[in-house]
Amino acid sequence: MNPAHLEITNQWDHVDSATFGNKDKTHCPHGYEYTPENISWNKNGKSRECRTCKYARNLRYQQRRKQVFRQECEEGFRRILEKRGWI
Ligand SMILES: [Zn+2]
Repeated sequence: MNPAHLEITNQWDHVDSATFGNKDKTHCPHGYEYTPENISWNKNGKSRECRTCKYARNLRYQQRRKQVFRQECEEGFRRILEKRGWI
């Protein structure tokens, strides 16, 4: 067992409990209120997450994926044009 690794793990446990584990917390780290409608429980059922932030994060992720996809399409299209000697 690596003592340094153990210490890091403990620190992360601490961060997690400070962020999600505290049942007295009424607002998420971004300031949205923890209401029954706004709480999303993780798969393990131990940590909760604010739905607003989860939704915003998913949206950002999808937008980034869309951007990457468009870039790849444009590059692929350009390669075809180059191959045909049109550009
Ligand atoms: Zn939130």
